[in-house]
Amino acid sequence: MKKVKLSKIIKYGKIEKKVDLKTLTSLQIGGVADYVVQPSDLEECFKLLQYVQKNKIPYMILGNGTNVLCSDDAYHGVVIKMGKLFASMQHDQEWFQVESGCALSQFIRYAIQNGYGGLEGLMGIPGSLGGAVRMNAGAFGYTISDYLQGVMYLDGDTIYYKKKEECDFGYRHSVFCDHKEWLILRIDFSLPQKTENSDQILKECMEKRLKSQELAYPSAGSVFKRNDLLPAPVSKIIDDMGLKGYRIGGAMISQKHAGFFINFASASSQNMKDLIQYVQDLVWEKYQVRLETEIEML
Ligand SMILES: Cc1cc2nc3c(=O)[nH]c(=O)nc-3n(C[C@H](O)[C@H](O)[C@H](O)COP(=O)(O)OP(=O)(O)OC[C@H]3O[C@@H](n4cnc5c(N)ncnc54)[C@H](O)[C@@H]3O)c2cc1C
Repeated sequence: MKKVKLSKIIKYGKIEKKVDLKTLTSLQIGGVADYVVQPSDLEECFKLLQYVQKNKIPYMILGNGTNVLCSDDAYHGVVIKMGKLFASMQHDQEWFQVESGCALSQFIRYAIQNGYGGLEGLMGIPGSLGGAVRMNAGAFGYTISDYLQGVMYLDGDTIYYKKKEECDFGYRHSVFCDHKEWLILRIDFSLPQKTENSDQILKECMEKRLKSQELAYPSAGSVFKRNDLLPAPVSKIIDDMGLKGYRIGGAMISQKHAGFFINFASASSQNMKDLIQYVQDLVWEKYQVRLETEIEML
């Protein structure tokens, strides 16, 4: 890659060369990226995005890496990692402003400690706020967009703000899915006061998660989106086809939750893709329904 003088742009953040993306994704799959850059403030985000876009340097954005399947090939570009260096939280009564690198669970805990709730059911989703907003993450009837007021994001050298109604939130979808080049910077919420049930809901949702989800092996959560054309939840359909434990190379359908595909033994990206395709084909043959992936291929 020519002309990369990232150190001129990133003074307080972090620049790493030749980073194995296995170490940055919950599936622990991925090739080596030329650069991983963690900006630490608005100015660094701004200069970095401007720089890669202007110089036509390939880039991709990563939050906590818990909803992605990265290719095994080397990535000749810049991975912009939004993490704990860009994760401040502020609030004034019920108004909360959170930077996109903040971990979702950390934000929920912060809100509750300050007397506000509304997002209890999302506790335990292992992503960052930016990733959660982009995917409109949800669980147990709660979604991240429930109390969201607006999103500040960056494209090229301009900062924009979208109000909730402009974000096109739907099931595991937002306008940010259609614009992979946009960098989500800050999310604003107006949260309701926590209730006497908040702690109990938090506890129950965490218990349900621990009981039902596969947490012993690397995964990216549910592989497929819900599909209302099927007669049952996708995980039950896969289970009923007798596929729990089915393996291709090191990729396996979890024995505990058939919606989770795990990296059982040094799976390659291709192993995981083949397993996904295999299940998609079987479901198509049986139900003429095309399963859509929830995880993103990067
Ligand atoms: C064990 C486990 C359980 C899970 N349970 C749930 C669940 O109950 N409900 C649920 O909805 N999901 C669940 N997930 C999936 C995942 O945690 C969520 O989708 C999460 O919100 C993804 O956030 P992330 O920061 O990890 O995003 P990443 O995986 O890093 O990125 C996901 C997408 O968002 C983009 N992105 C990330 N940050 C930004 C940003 N700042 N600006 C622009 N684009 C960005 C990336 O480019 C990528 O396309 C689970 C995953 C695991 C491993």
